[in-house]
Amino acid sequence: MPIATVNPATGETLKTFEPLGPETIESRLAAAHEAFRQYRTTGFGERALLLKKAALLLEKDQEDIARTMTTEMGKPVTAARAEAAKCVKAMRWYADHAEELLADEPVADAEAKDSGAARAHVHYRPLGVVLAVMPWNFPLWQVVRFAAPALMAGNTGLLKHASNVPQTALYLGDLFHRAGYPEGCFQTLLIGAGAVEGVLRDPRVAAATLTGSEPAGRSVASVAGDEVKKTVLELGGSDPFVVMPSADVDKAARTAVTARVQNNGQSCIAAKRFIVHEDVYDAFTERFTARMEGLTVGDPLDESTEVGPLASEQGRGDLEELVDDAVRLGAQALCGGGRPADHPHGWFYLPTVLTGITPEMRIHREETFGPVATVYRVADLDEAVQVANDSPFGLSSNVWTRDESEVARFVRDLEAGGVFVNGMTASHPAMPFGGVKRSGYGRELSGHGIKEFCNTTTVWRG
Ligand code: NDP
Repeated sequence: MPIATVNPATGETLKTFEPLGPETIESRLAAAHEAFRQYRTTGFGERALLLKKAALLLEKDQEDIARTMTTEMGKPVTAARAEAAKCVKAMRWYADHAEELLADEPVADAEAKDSGAARAHVHYRPLGVVLAVMPWNFPLWQVVRFAAPALMAGNTGLLKHASNVPQTALYLGDLFHRAGYPEGCFQTLLIGAGAVEGVLRDPRVAAATLTGSEPAGRSVASVAGDEVKKTVLELGGSDPFVVMPSADVDKAARTAVTARVQNNGQSCIAAKRFIVHEDVYDAFTERFTARMEGLTVGDPLDESTEVGPLASEQGRGDLEELVDDAVRLGAQALCGGGRPADHPHGWFYLPTVLTGITPEMRIHREETFGPVATVYRVADLDEAVQVANDSPFGLSSNVWTRDESEVARFVRDLEAGGVFVNGMTASHPAMPFGGVKRSGYGRELSGHGIKEFCNTTTVWRG
């Protein structure tokens, strides 16, 4: 894949970039390693000042970087601004909380004595240079979600961003540089996927985090496993959105639309499979379909656009294949099901609602990375749980019910890294984020996220 900005709303190539050569990669690796030796000894106060400076700069750059993101990957500019604001918030949150999250943890006196120690505690130290392989869908947020905690913990970072968001990638390297971070603390590597293995195998790289597809995750995790290096993987999702009879059906239907089409439908935590109890199936499906059909599809730079184009021609092609396969095998499209006639250029796809899904359809098991929803009718709670769990993925889940015993069942039984009750899944700096099954492993955000790239050290004193 060439490293280039190609506007998804027009298909026009705006700018291409040469990937870094071996000598530049080597000098950046050396700089990252050298920077770590010094940066690891800094205190939380110093790190917090740097991160807050970066947050302030990003806040000032909000409009420009929002337009860059929209031009590179097609998200509505309103959503791009919100993404930048969310990054600012997460940076400030980690600047304010890292010290407390990574404070020494004393071992209880009785246990310390039982081990023969006079006293003991747990201490968190940084791991070293962390390689971040990141996707295009939230081109700022996915990176900041890694960088803010990693830098506050005292690590240094190397960013290999997706090849279709090079200007956002360069902006990020520049942002941390302008904030005053020591040379080498955070650097962007404009390299293709094929160059990742060499970087990851380099002894100066301690660990890696990847957000993206399952094949990319498997590849990076295999190399890291071979090198015995820690990884965190945040891969795809096909989150269930369960609606039970006691739910506020109208609110559920409204939220379902946002949960499905956020980021033009290209979000790992978008609700993708709508699993509806038969008592409220018709009411929900009617409202949901009407709202999906009424969404404004168009130029993502237009303030009124709700759904822009997909990020790439390949991405739209993959989505079309899934829908066409389902329709061929008997699924019904209640709305959408193809490209909008009034947007012949760019990679647009109409918001689509499909029913009549059966297990032999690819769409039943694969991730739909675009504005396509599947709706399932279920007879009871047991069937809702069974259908929700009938997926290779396990990122998050949404359940709509006012019945506390049903909530308890979902929390106990849904195979996912999150259960959001009467709302849609969204990430927040204070809450762990990540999945089970093919959605990956490890957690980002919160205290759990910052500790992923720490050396959890036992300090035992005789
Ligand atoms: P990829 O997983 O291919 O891309 C994500 C990142 O991984 C990019 O930086 C990419 O680099 C890199 N990468 C890809 N293959 C390898 C590899 N073998 N070794 C090392 N790095 C690699 O995502 P796509 O853009 O191709 O999207 C495909 C599907 O992945 C989507 O339809 C969706 O299902 C899922 N996805 C999930 C995301 C999530 O948020 N969990 C985000 C994006 C995609 P390069 O761009 O240079 O190829």
